[in-house]
Formats: sequence, C-alpha cells, structure tokens
Amino acid sequence: MALTDLAAEYGTPLYIYDEATLRGRAALVRDAFARAYPGTHVVYAGKAFMNTAILQLLRSEGYGLDVVSGGELYAGLHAGFAPAEITFHGNNKGRAELDQALTAGIGRIVVDNAHEIALLSELTRERETPVTVLLRLNPSIDVHTHEKIATGVADSKFGFPIATGQAERAVAAVRAHPGLDLAGYHAHIGSQIFDSRSYVEAIDELLAFAAAMRDRHGVTIRELSPGGGYGIAYLPGEEPANVAAWAGTIASAVRERCAWWDLPLPALTVEPGRSIVGPAGVALYTIGAAKTIPGVRAYVSVDGGMADNIRPTLYGAQYHAEIANRCGSGASAPITIAGKYCESGDILIDHIELPPVEPGDLLAMPAAGAYCLAMASNYNLAPRPAAIMVNDGAARLIRARESFADLVRFDR
Ligand SMILES: *Cc1c(COP(=O)(O)O)cnc(C)c1O
Repeated sequence: MALTDLAAEYGTPLYIYDEATLRGRAALVRDAFARAYPGTHVVYAGKAFMNTAILQLLRSEGYGLDVVSGGELYAGLHAGFAPAEITFHGNNKGRAELDQALTAGIGRIVVDNAHEIALLSELTRERETPVTVLLRLNPSIDVHTHEKIATGVADSKFGFPIATGQAERAVAAVRAHPGLDLAGYHAHIGSQIFDSRSYVEAIDELLAFAAAMRDRHGVTIRELSPGGGYGIAYLPGEEPANVAAWAGTIASAVRERCAWWDLPLPALTVEPGRSIVGPAGVALYTIGAAKTIPGVRAYVSVDGGMADNIRPTLYGAQYHAEIANRCGSGASAPITIAGKYCESGDILIDHIELPPVEPGDLLAMPAAGAYCLAMASNYNLAPRPAAIMVNDGAARLIRARESFADLVRFDR
C-alpha cells in the first residue's frame, strides 16, 4: 500500500502495522519452540504494545498473554483472553491489582518480592483452590544490552536474587502458605538481547536452584520460564536474533541441565514482546521545519517525536528512516531528525544520511512497532497518534487518533 495514500487518509504521525509480518513473527517463534520443545507455551508480553486488535490477532495465533498492571489485565480480558491464559508480572503489584487478578481467576502470578507473598497469603486465605505462582528469580546474568533494559543483573529492582539467599527464603515463604501453589521459576534477563548464551546461563542458574530447592525443601517444579528479550534489527545491516536457532539452544539447555540434576522436564514458557510487534510496525511522520547551523549540524523536524517514541531519548535507541513519498534525488547529506516537543533531547535520529528533504515530505521509520506507542504520552498536549493495520491491500484503524477534546477530558 502506498504510504502517501495512508498518510492522506489517516494523517501523521501514524503507526502502521503489517498483519502478515505480525502473523509471520508470531508463527516463527511459536513453531520454532514447538519443534524444539513440544508443548512450549508462547505468551505475548503485552507491554510492548497493548492494543485490542493486536491482542486478538496473537490470541488467534495460539498465544497467551503477559500483563504487568491492572490496566493491562483489564485490556487482556477485554480482548478475549481467557483468564487462565494470562500471567501477571511486575515488581510492585498492588493489593487491588492482585485482588483483581485473583477475582478474574488468572492463570499465573509471577511473584517478585516478599511484600507480594504477604499480600497474596492474605488475599488467598479464604479461597478454596490455591493460586498458581512462579517465583521471579534474579540469576545475576550480565547481558550485553543497554543498562536501562538489562533486568537480570545483580543490581536490579526485579526478582529475588539467588546469590544472596533471598530466593531460597522466598521458596520457603511460599511453601508456608497453603493458598499459593509454587509451580516453577521465572527469569527475564533483559530486552534486545543478541547472544543466546545469556539464556543458557540463566537456565543453568534456574535449574541449579531448582535442584537445590528439591534437595533442601522437597520442592519439585513443573514449569520454567526464561522470559523474552529476543533482539530485533533497527538499522540496515543489523541481524535480528535467530529465534529459530535459539529455540534449539534453549531447549537443549533445559534438557541437559534437567538430566544433569535429575529433574523432571518442566513445561516451558517463553515471553516474546519486541520480537513479535517491533518489526511489524512502521512510524510515518511529515517533515516540517529545517535549520542548518553552519559548522554544527542540520536539523530537520517532524510532526512527532518523544511523545510517540521516547526510546531514543530514554535509551539512546537508534532508528533508520527513509523518505516515503518520492525517490530522493540529489546527494545524501548528514541530518538530524528532531521531534517537535519542547525538550532539546527530543531527537529521533541523531545522524542519518538522506537526500535533500522538503517540508511536506513523508518520513518512514521502520521497526517502530514495540515500546513506541506503548510508552506514548501527551507531553505538550500532543494527541497520541492513530494506529492502523494493513493487510492484502486494505487498511483498518486499530487505534483512533486522540482529539483535542480528549486532552482536556479528565480536567476538572
Ligand atoms: C518485557 C518483558 C518481556 C518481553 O521482553 P521483549 O524484550 O519485549 O521480548 C518478557 N517477560 C517479562 C517478564 C517482561 O517484563
């Protein structure tokens, strides 16, 4: 479909999701793990982009859902996920959120800390059937990714550290509460990971811990989750994580370590987010003002920026872009793509070589499907952009553009 037509019909900034890519990514991860470790549960980490149409599509591809808040739980149920297909994560689930999850009857709660064990033991006191929980463990794996998206290092707000003995105390605490059924262990070591050995290390740590807990506390686990985090390509020439091969690596690690420790094979759950929706989304902007500061740099501004995609500002994330409305002519020159918001740090692309651009040109940024609209704000009272899904020559709106009236709706 011509991006010029889509821009004319839906306006910019616009987030465009390609259904075939989404289904293809979902099938690739699902089928790779089905081959490598039959029975693997594939679960979409909804926080990458929570949208009803996308959730329904992934559900139809056989996915379960990870949520990290009461809002995401609500949206997951609203999209039609059965409560049993939903897993609840987060490092500070509130009493009301846990109560909401228990009332809905969701499948699993991944317990993150001692406060949560106390809340759950209180909330489950009157229940007949125990709630299934996994413990989020911190295996202290130093993954090579941006420090703000590494979550399995020793200094992390997430999970029970194994090395300090806190994880073991959590096992004992969960076992002491009849309302909690400890099904297994979970680790999510970070995002945008490109080395499958990080998962092997995490699985080593989790299963060594599982063996120790069996020996010392008589706990045998039924489930294991090494999380998500598979890296995607953002720039030309980057290689995405080879999930098809990684599934084999992860499956062999689980089998080998279980054999080594004489543990029964657990059911495996994997939780991809970015690798499903990231490559399926393209952000489309309209170019406006330009300013060249001689000897410094040339700024070209677009009609979006940090309010719809804060990743460059937050993590120094890098993106590629192409002129979308014409074949650029003239020599490419380095420019900086700036957003329109009132922060000097609102830069979408610090350095890119493009042919000369003019006001009104369209700029397309690929790999914008994950953690962009998901983190969008109304800073400067920007109405959050529309999102559409395209398939087979047809487009449909999956999220309406916010209006100015929406921006003052909650003011009193
Ligand atoms: C965010 C998250 C994921 C998904 O991470 P991606 O990098 O988007 O694949 C999986 N599991 C948990 C617990 C998460 O918090």
